[in-house]
Amino acid sequence: MKVIVLGAGIVGTASAWFLQKAGHEVIVIDRQPGAAQETSFANGGQISVSHAEPWANPSAPLKLLKWLGREDAPLLFRLRPEWLQWRWGMAFLRECTPARTAHNIRQIVAIAEYSRLTLQALRAETGIAYDCATRGILHFYTDEAEFRQSLAAARLMRELGCPRETISAEEVVRIEPALAAIRHKIAGGDFTATDESGDIYKFTTGLADKCVQAGVQFRFNTTITRLLSEGSGAAARVTGIEVIDEQGRHQRLQADSYVLALGSFSQPLAKGVGVDLLLYPGKGYSATYQVTRPDLAPQVSLTDDGYKLVISRLGDRLRVAGTAELNGYTRELNPVRCEAITRRTRELFPNACDYDDPQYWTGLRPLTPSNVPYIGRTRLANLFLNTGHGTLGWTMGCGSGKAIADIVSGRRPDVDFAFTGMPGTREGQPLVSLPAKS
Ligand SMILES: Cc1cc2nc3c(=O)[nH]c(=O)nc-3n(C[C@H](O)[C@H](O)[C@H](O)COP(=O)(O)OP(=O)(O)OC[C@H]3O[C@@H](n4cnc5c(N)ncnc54)[C@H](O)[C@@H]3O)c2cc1C
Repeated sequence: MKVIVLGAGIVGTASAWFLQKAGHEVIVIDRQPGAAQETSFANGGQISVSHAEPWANPSAPLKLLKWLGREDAPLLFRLRPEWLQWRWGMAFLRECTPARTAHNIRQIVAIAEYSRLTLQALRAETGIAYDCATRGILHFYTDEAEFRQSLAAARLMRELGCPRETISAEEVVRIEPALAAIRHKIAGGDFTATDESGDIYKFTTGLADKCVQAGVQFRFNTTITRLLSEGSGAAARVTGIEVIDEQGRHQRLQADSYVLALGSFSQPLAKGVGVDLLLYPGKGYSATYQVTRPDLAPQVSLTDDGYKLVISRLGDRLRVAGTAELNGYTRELNPVRCEAITRRTRELFPNACDYDDPQYWTGLRPLTPSNVPYIGRTRLANLFLNTGHGTLGWTMGCGSGKAIADIVSGRRPDVDFAFTGMPGTREGQPLVSLPAKS
């Protein structure tokens, strides 16, 4: 079968790899000159299965109110006269109940755990080098109340099989001695030895190269402008996509099946064929610093709870990422936010890096209100979704790629997850029931 994958971020590239492995002819389309140039470019680097708590949780509404209008707030909602943003915001609030939060965490942990195993297998199979560190993720708290609240989250993660251990401030510094300078401010932490980190860009471009060697065709510098469809009800299907190619020519491309993996930009294109995705861009920032004193820079991937920052050592660089702004599709760098990241990193690791020459970046997280991605079928028989991975696309990307390849091939994936188009799940009805995997 010929399959067009729309988008060459981590999700599209992983989908292409597994589709090709499943024996399909695969073409990947992306508007950028190479893979992983948008949100999969410079993220926080964490493969954080044990930190699957979505932003929508019972404490979120109060925090959001407190942060409203504060330029350096970790999560900033800039209200716009935009129906999609308001609908998304209302749905976000509905996901904040304890029951919805618990349900969403279960979904995310299931696909994230599956994805980490898939990434580990891919790493072993392909040998892609991506500054991978398997030293776990250490989450530290500087606020007593937040630390106390985290005990329940850690307990839930353990119930779901993630070994997230609550630890004292002494243990935090023993695991990551680079935090010694702020030992007196640390209330406690939790540590998951099985979590990992690594450079998403290096991995995705490495996987794209392997895809090419295996026969996948990439068409870069090609912008998708429209999906075309025909038929209604059970007969509805995509008949092609319209693109503007490298030479500026308008073209129509056709395949048997289509996998939508355009990150935040999946929403407007899907809408054109009547698939209504509740997906909104959540702008995030990262700063990358050259490490000048390796002995003073952290080795273990960290989450700084107070500032909602994640920190990953990527070889001789330190990547610090976080903050979220819901303000449409702009990727403009706000200097206040950039400086807040550098100020905090310098405070944590005063002499570890060259703080005078940071590489700042922004990316748009494709956010669903629940942070549970759309993976699976749609009401159009040959249109598949692999999008909406929000804050955890690196953590969930490889497994999502494997799962969608199974679904496109008519097989049930090896993971218990609420795939779209399956009985009782989101985005439409059960369109085709998949045969059980043999
Ligand atoms: C600051 C920040 C920190 C993060 N930290 C982490 C982390 O530590 N761990 C983690 O798991 N996740 C993290 N994430 C989330 C993760 O980076 C994303 O979920 C993931 O990269 C999304 O991948 P994607 O393939 O869905 O989207 P993208 O990488 O955005 O890929 C979509 C592709 O579609 C292409 N495209 C879009 N529109 C068109 C069009 N019309 N025509 C052609 N091509 C098009 C784009 O060029 C792009 O290549 C972070 C995100 C941010 C912003």
